[in-house]
Amino acid sequence: MADEEQKETILHGIAASPGIAIGEVLIVNSFYTSFREPDIKNIEPDNIESEKKAFERALDVTRAELRVMQKRIQAELDDKEASIFDAHLLIVDDRMILNEVEMLVQTEKWSAAYAFYSTINRYVKALAAMPDVYIRERADDIKDVASRILSNLHGNRQPILDNLGGKKIIVAHDLTPSATALLDRENVLGFAVGTGSQTSHTAILARSMKIPAIVGVKDISITLKTGDKVIIDGYVGNAIIHPTESTIRLYHQKETQEEKLYAELIHESRLRPETLDGFRIQLAANVDGIADVKSAKRFGTAGVGLFRTEYLFINKNKLPSENEQFEIYREMISSLNGHPVTIRTLDLGGDKLSETLNSLAEPNPFLGLRAVRLCLQERPDILRTQLRAMLRASVYGSLKILFPMITSTTEVTALINILNEIKADLKKEKISFKDDVEIGIMIETPAAALIAEALAELVDFFSIGSNDLIQYTMAVDRGNERVAYLYLPTHPAVLGLIEKTVSAARRKNIWVSVCGEMAGVPQYTPLLVGLGVHELSMSPISLGTIRRTIRKIKMHEAEDIAQRALKCTNAQDALNLSVNYLREIAPDVFDLTTKGL
Ligand code: PEP
Ligand code: MG
Repeated sequence: MADEEQKETILHGIAASPGIAIGEVLIVNSFYTSFREPDIKNIEPDNIESEKKAFERALDVTRAELRVMQKRIQAELDDKEASIFDAHLLIVDDRMILNEVEMLVQTEKWSAAYAFYSTINRYVKALAAMPDVYIRERADDIKDVASRILSNLHGNRQPILDNLGGKKIIVAHDLTPSATALLDRENVLGFAVGTGSQTSHTAILARSMKIPAIVGVKDISITLKTGDKVIIDGYVGNAIIHPTESTIRLYHQKETQEEKLYAELIHESRLRPETLDGFRIQLAANVDGIADVKSAKRFGTAGVGLFRTEYLFINKNKLPSENEQFEIYREMISSLNGHPVTIRTLDLGGDKLSETLNSLAEPNPFLGLRAVRLCLQERPDILRTQLRAMLRASVYGSLKILFPMITSTTEVTALINILNEIKADLKKEKISFKDDVEIGIMIETPAAALIAEALAELVDFFSIGSNDLIQYTMAVDRGNERVAYLYLPTHPAVLGLIEKTVSAARRKNIWVSVCGEMAGVPQYTPLLVGLGVHELSMSPISLGTIRRTIRKIKMHEAEDIAQRALKCTNAQDALNLSVNYLREIAPDVFDLTTKGL
């Protein structure tokens, strides 16, 4: 029932994952960012001990975090600024508070979070009522450190995200990729996040989980509260708050139409992704694990164009062993029956962080020790284990190895040398593998695109990572909704770099794919096809619409659009060329992805 008291309103954000979700809100950001009353108050008597342990762990993690921050501030500023952390550390170690929390957990059977919150809240209230401004301000310090402890407490236990206890629409100010990866898929109807953009990894994960999602919805987590009714329109990026009965009916109709369309697209999955004049574009899937391969097959794919292996390393307290990885790679490669499986080596860093591997916070993680940099500089052991597992799995089908975040020929040579050393080891150990596994690199930095010709001499294929290529070309953090307006796939600089990459690949006769999110958005399909890419690799959910779009394209028309777009001096003009063509050849696909209700 729509709430009679509250007016229906629409909040606009960024469409992150297609689909309609209608349901009740569960706010989760309080667990991460602010000092608010936790939702879970009571616990079972059996959980008293584990609750106390979780609390101690949260204090340990908080203490370690505060020390790291203190050191950094000391290095950058002076001891005075850094001494604020002494005050915070005192709170973490305050025996009186800690004893009280443990006592409340024991006797009242309260969750540690609730016991801690209520204890601290009493102090905060008392301080806030003091006449002295200085003392009143100390209440904020206490709240600050308390939020951190609460967040670590939930971070360790992750009680809500992986067990929602009912169908919910998750609303958060921010949701990290690791938190998203934990979501209880059975019960998440959809989610709406205040931060992020279309290519933030949280958005990408939502697509691979097939959960309708919108991101970058300003103020969503303070506008809504747990229990509110909301509609998430993941096609256009809207959240309809307190919808009326008639709006709900309309969205149910839209849902039915979309289901019908997706059923048709699945039906078309056996059709060749070929232009009207007979040019074949290889379609492949981006996957995070074996579960995605099943849905990729339903939508029809010629293989895996990108396996993001970092999710094997995130949310885990130990690194996956060679054998564990081998089993996963083997299963995926065998299940694709000879179709290529492109496995990318670990791309941790940026917004994909692992507690075990990225323990040192970097000031600019997207420009930091990410991907092959981490592997080559600090953790060659991890790279070696991963490559060994991949090579061992290569005999089960068609493996391609992909290296991310390349900026120089030196890196590529170093990586190939390591690979050759591993091959030599395997030979010595008489372990079989395919010697002719194709080696490719991501072209996702302007540096790589600009030296594509030289890089093409060293490898068998390129995979254009448009998500990062746009981020690094436009100097726009791909997860920051405040600068999302500058995240422009058709900006002349971006199109120019893609063109340079594709031409270098074609001149050197190597395969070129696009595996960034652009590949799965029909508005860009005429451009990418016209620029001459061989393959488009995308979230499985996009395969149907892209296949349908390709089948309406005439190559010479797409080439003409691409050439005209390359001459445009702004992103909008180039986009219009592609979108107008799409509207003309595939109005159904155009409507699906651009129209709200
Ligand atoms: C990209 O950057 O376009 C890409 C495919 O890799 P990721 O999104 O994992 O950074
Ligand atoms: Mg990338």
